Amino acid sequence: FKGFAMKKLNETGWVEKEVPECGPLDAIVRPTCVSPCTSDIHTVWEGAIGDRKDMVLGHEAVGVVEEVGSLVKNIKVGDKVIVPAITPDWDDEAAQRGYPSQTTEPLGGWKFSNFKDGVFGERFHVNLADANLALMPEGLTDEAAVMLVDMWSTGMMGSENANIPLGGSVLVIGIGAVGLSAIAGAALLGAADIYAAGTRPISVKVAKEYGATEIINYREAPIDEQVREATDGAGVDSVIIAGGNLTNTWKEAVASTKAGGTISNVNYLSGADDVLIPRVEWGCGMSNINITNGLCPGGRVRMERLARLALTNRADPELLVTHRFKGLEKIEDALYLMKDKPKDLIKPIVKID
Ligand code: NAD
Ligand code: ZN
Repeated sequence: FKGFAMKKLNETGWVEKEVPECGPLDAIVRPTCVSPCTSDIHTVWEGAIGDRKDMVLGHEAVGVVEEVGSLVKNIKVGDKVIVPAITPDWDDEAAQRGYPSQTTEPLGGWKFSNFKDGVFGERFHVNLADANLALMPEGLTDEAAVMLVDMWSTGMMGSENANIPLGGSVLVIGIGAVGLSAIAGAALLGAADIYAAGTRPISVKVAKEYGATEIINYREAPIDEQVREATDGAGVDSVIIAGGNLTNTWKEAVASTKAGGTISNVNYLSGADDVLIPRVEWGCGMSNINITNGLCPGGRVRMERLARLALTNRADPELLVTHRFKGLEKIEDALYLMKDKPKDLIKPIVKID
């Protein structure tokens, strides 16, 4: 099959591959809609996971099942499915301890476009089809569903991990697709005041639609100064980090958080080897400001629940889609658009059939 790949660090191109063997518990899927992720950019152009040779990119897809293994019970050939970006080994000990995204090794639930071919091809392989694929429910479009598999799942995990009190206050740093999903999650979890730190007009618009109550322009002054001012010096209960850098962001996050609050990171950290936590703002290590983090949750039930959120109109995933392409060969343009990040972009999608 044909796929769009990372040929090596800093180089992409089309490759021809053999359709992978479908194990007894697995499935082979033909994508009908895909979307590139900022993580694909970190992978190819920032060397974030090291070098890879001719690895098909992409981990956000919906599609049609082409083949299933002999032991698969619930998924049939021809089914339309939502494919989570993260496809854990559900029998692994980390999954049994409650951390399926970290199975076999740290970040080991992330397989597509990490250590096996991803979804930017004519076919891709899915491990443990019954546990990892969700049937596409009636009433959900491809472009809505493809926003659930990584963007909503990751951003909403950011808000789930942030211990948001009912009626509490939240700061979201970075309002790309992940941060915007974190805003939607925070609103659904009962936050009253949601401060969104970002600048791009399209993101600001969606942030408000998802429930942000105040926008903070991080280019004007340090975020923590603006948060302290807006909260009469109190700070916020929860901070979700979904963008930014290692020079300012962690300091701003700690300095914005109330004693007893939580900082929840979902950002893919790159650019330096150390995360610097400011000692004094952290109460000399005694402030009860907790730091949590995680990799996007995957699996069937997660996708089913996110789909229910969309279908019951709790929030609209399609608000994240700003650019639409048609045809497999357009995956290349969509990825480069994601790399260039024009001002009016949140997420591009590519319809394939
Ligand atoms: P994005 O690049 O669209 O969003 C990040 C935003 O942060 C941008 O809008 C950028 O302008 C803004 N920003 C830059 N500097 C800033 C600063 N100093 N302060 C505040 N905002 C600043 O990316 P995205 O697709 O929304 O993804 C966000 C991050 O999450 C990426 O690093 C991505 O790789 C990561 N990610 C993590 C997981 C996970 O499982 N934890 C899953 C998917 C994506
Ligand atoms: Zn991703």
